[in-house]
Amino acid sequence: MKIAFIGLGNMGAPMARCLIAAGHEVVGFDPAAAPDDIPCADSAAQAVAGAEVAITMLPNGDILRAVAGEIHPAMDQGALHLDCSTVDVQSARDVAEAAEKAGLMAVDAPVSGGIGGAINGTLTFMGGGAQDAFAKAEPLFDIMGQKAVHCGDSGAGQAAKICNNMILGATMIATCEAFALADQLGLERQKMFDVVSTSSGYSWSMNAYCPAPGVGPESPADNDYAPGFAAALMLKDLKLSQQAAQAVGANTPMGAQAMEIYNEFVETYGKGGLDFSAILPHLATEGGTGAA
Ligand code: NAD
Repeated sequence: MKIAFIGLGNMGAPMARCLIAAGHEVVGFDPAAAPDDIPCADSAAQAVAGAEVAITMLPNGDILRAVAGEIHPAMDQGALHLDCSTVDVQSARDVAEAAEKAGLMAVDAPVSGGIGGAINGTLTFMGGGAQDAFAKAEPLFDIMGQKAVHCGDSGAGQAAKICNNMILGATMIATCEAFALADQLGLERQKMFDVVSTSSGYSWSMNAYCPAPGVGPESPADNDYAPGFAAALMLKDLKLSQQAAQAVGANTPMGAQAMEIYNEFVETYGKGGLDFSAILPHLATEGGTGAA
C-alpha cells in the first residue's frame, strides 16, 4: 500500500518504520525531521499525492486542523485520513467532517503504549469513524500495534484515550501518595508493593510502572525518572479530559484535581522532562500532601 506519514517525531518515525519493514511504500513529511531511513517529500501535500492512506501523528488539534487543510485537497478521492495524534474530541470530529466533505474516509485512532510500543509495533489503537474506514485501517493497526478497538463514530477514539489517561493520571497520583504515606508510617516500599500489587489497590501504575525505584518491574523510576511518559504529556491529556468534561457538563472532580497537581508539577520542574511517575519523589522529599 502507498502510505503518507505526516509527523515523524518520537512516535511517528518508529511507526513509519514498522510499516516500511512490513513492505509498504511510505513517504513521510515533517518540517523538523527527515530521518535517513524514511523516504521524505518536501511538503505534506506532496507526500499524500497518490497515497491510499495518509497517517498524521502530530502534537495537537490546531496543528492537525492546519495539516488536514493542506492534505485533504491533495488526496485521492476515497483515500483514508488516519489520525493517530492525541487531540481534543472536537478537532477530531471537525477534521473527519472536513475529510468526508472532500470525498475521503477518516478515522481518529490515538494510541497507548508510548515510544516502546511504537518501536516494537505493540501499540493499542482506539478508533473512531465509519466501519468501512476502520476496516481499511485494520491491516495497518495489525502492523503498528497489538490491539485495535473500534470505539464508535468520529471522535470516539479520542474520547476513549482521554478517559483512559484521566484514570491513569489519578491512579498514578494515588499510588505515589500511598508510597509517601507508607514511608512516613515506616512501611518498606517493597512490602507495600508486595501487598498492593496483589490486593485491591493494584493498578497499572503500581504493577507495571511502579513509581518507586528498585521496586517492581523496571520503570522510569529506575532511570532517574527520565521519560517514559513525560509529565508534560500527561498534563496535556488531563487538560483535554477537563476541556471535554466542561464541554459536555460531566462531573470529574478527581480528573480536575489530577490536572491541577500535574500543572503545578510541570511548572515547578519544567517541560523538559521528568516522567509522570516523578510525583513520588516530589511528595516524598517535599512532604507535599496533594497539590504538588
Ligand atoms: P513529537 O513532538 O516527538 O512529534 C510530533 C512531530 O510533529 C514533530 O516531529 C513535529 O516536527 C511534527 N510536526 C509539527 N508540525 C507539523 C506539521 N505542520 N507538519 C508535519 N509535521 C509537523 O511528539 P510524539 O511524542 O511523537 O507524539 C505525537 C502524538 O502522539 C501527540 O499527539 C502525543 O500526545 C501522542 N502520544 C505520544 C506518546 C508518547 O509517549 N510520546 C504516547 C501516546 C500518544
